[in-house]
Amino acid sequence: MSGQEYVASYYAATRHAVPRRAALAGDVDCDVCVVGGGIAGCTAALHLAERGLRVVLLEAECIGWGASGRSGAQALPGIAAGEEKIEALVGPDDARRVWDMTLEGLELMRTLIARHAIDCDYVPGQMHVAVKERQVRELRAWALRLNERYDYRSLRFVERDELRATVASGRYLAGTLDTNSAHLHPLNYTLGLAGAAERAGARLYEDSRALGFEPGATVTVRTAGGRVRCAHLALCGNAWLGDAAPQIARRIMPVGTYIVATEPLGAGRAHALIANDAAVTDINWILDYFRLSRDHRLLFGGRVSYSGLDPFNTAHATRRRMLHVFPQLHDVRIDYSWGGYVDISLNRAPDFGRLAPNVYYVQGFSGHGIVLTGIAGKLLAEAISGTAGRFDVFARIPHREFPGGALLRRPALVLAMAWYRLRDLL
Ligand SMILES: Cc1cc2nc3c(=O)[nH]c(=O)nc-3n(C[C@H](O)[C@H](O)[C@H](O)COP(=O)(O)OP(=O)(O)OC[C@H]3O[C@@H](n4cnc5c(N)ncnc54)[C@H](O)[C@@H]3O)c2cc1C
Repeated sequence: MSGQEYVASYYAATRHAVPRRAALAGDVDCDVCVVGGGIAGCTAALHLAERGLRVVLLEAECIGWGASGRSGAQALPGIAAGEEKIEALVGPDDARRVWDMTLEGLELMRTLIARHAIDCDYVPGQMHVAVKERQVRELRAWALRLNERYDYRSLRFVERDELRATVASGRYLAGTLDTNSAHLHPLNYTLGLAGAAERAGARLYEDSRALGFEPGATVTVRTAGGRVRCAHLALCGNAWLGDAAPQIARRIMPVGTYIVATEPLGAGRAHALIANDAAVTDINWILDYFRLSRDHRLLFGGRVSYSGLDPFNTAHATRRRMLHVFPQLHDVRIDYSWGGYVDISLNRAPDFGRLAPNVYYVQGFSGHGIVLTGIAGKLLAEAISGTAGRFDVFARIPHREFPGGALLRRPALVLAMAWYRLRDLL
């Protein structure tokens, strides 16, 4: 563990030691250049290399530096927009295909962990919880919809008494439990994927920001130290891509979210908080999410910053929210506090597509990306290898740019989010 280049998170402090990869120096040729070393980019690189393609991956910082290495890491099927919204956007048949592919994503995650022996603290179980009566009704209807319309049987509604015996907080009125969902150490998972991609033949470069690209039959991607000439380009830079592809940057908004990790609580005290070791999230728009770590800390996240600024002491504010849920932790020390950006699209559905016939992108996971990015990487590999049908189910989801142009985009979002915050209170 060197600890310098990652944000000072619990994940960075407990990551597996991996040698630093060199920066790109000079010109290289390949079949596919992947930009971004998060779960999406690493999974794409792995699947492409396994198909026999020559792959170069460019990461601006270090592997897992972005959301994939900082995440709450609740591995869930579905998409952030929810099933009803996606049905309205693309119709019931494509909505069902999207759902099924996200389920495949969960299975893919488990397969990759097993096949590549990725040590990443995988724990099954995830709960959504309601803080208001209205949300109890919503969760009940959602569970029914998934059970009956989507034939999804591993999720069930949990009544108040059972929930209170499981999660030691007086805040929650009811919930759902999904035994197929899970949580894990997201940085070690991403590092494991990167190692697997390398062993499959992909060449990975760190400290190698793609500054831009020239399209054409051969695409040229520029970094400060060299150029990659490739037949296909896959942009997996998430909220950080910015100037490298401004056309798609306008379709997402980076939104800050923050996590604290307590000191180790000891097995007894930790499991008294969450008896079944599931990951938990409420269903407010501005949501709280939490889970235990392998060494029995509580990792608690929440409180987004849509203004893009960081006007409050995030560790203090996030701890206050944690105590609102678990007042019994008043004497507990916070050991780590960090934040990251999620890439929110306007309709909170994932945004996949092409900027040219041989330039692909995936983004807009909207805080629901641990599973979706993995399947996105696999679909990218399928599409680039000539079978685009499944990628195009996602690419058909309609998207709009954030309104207001470069200057007004963020104030417009701040206003919209103030409305949603108000809605959480009702
Ligand atoms: C605090 C937090 C909590 C979250 N909690 C959850 C959760 O509980 N469940 C869930 O499902 N999702 C969660 N998410 C979202 C999830 O982590 C992301 O959707 C997912 O990790 C995105 O993966 P990615 O590969 O698309 O992007 P990233 O992991 O962000 O990777 C993109 C990489 O691309 C690199 N890059 C960008 N531009 C360039 C360039 N020009 N050249 C080279 N490299 C470039 C960046 O440095 C970065 O490393 C959370 C996110 C955050 C930040």
